[in-house]
Amino acid sequence: MQQLMERASGACELCGAAKNLTAVAVAPHTDLTLETGLVVCATCEGQLSTGAELDADHWKALQDSAWSQVPAVVVTCWRLLGRLDAPWATSLLEQLYLPEEVLAWAQDTGTGQAGEAPTLDSNGAVLSEGDSVTLIKDLNVKGAGFTAKRGTMVRRIRLTDDPALIEGKVNGTQIVLKTCFLKRA
Ligand SMILES: [Zn+2]
Repeated sequence: MQQLMERASGACELCGAAKNLTAVAVAPHTDLTLETGLVVCATCEGQLSTGAELDADHWKALQDSAWSQVPAVVVTCWRLLGRLDAPWATSLLEQLYLPEEVLAWAQDTGTGQAGEAPTLDSNGAVLSEGDSVTLIKDLNVKGAGFTAKRGTMVRRIRLTDDPALIEGKVNGTQIVLKTCFLKRA
């Protein structure tokens, strides 16, 4: 907490306000450490909960704070920018480059409501990029002229925009598969 306040140098790490500061943990983390914590003012804190209506003018401050070197700050800015419905927010989001592990954190709000539903297999297990899956029934692959047999292992799957579909290679052909016919290997 002390260290967090020192890092923030007495100002809200999102908007720069100097009053009513508090430290919060950035989801999915619940513990407050130098890595997971963020110093925010009361105004920012009130808008951080996912249901809150965002005051776009207040968040113009993100145009500075989004370039922070502190992952917890960048993650929070990234999420807020995604919720803001303003052209400047969209273009700032496009300019931001998040290192892979920071992006993974930003996408993992721990609630599964980051705007994207998780991709689940037939048993409800979460599928991730690069997982291996097996087919639970024979599938006729349209256009490819073969049947992908039940039990076939598909390695290094790729997720798609649609949580009901993944991509993977079967018989050397990249095909789209329905997740309801798969289980994680
Ligand atoms: Zn603030």
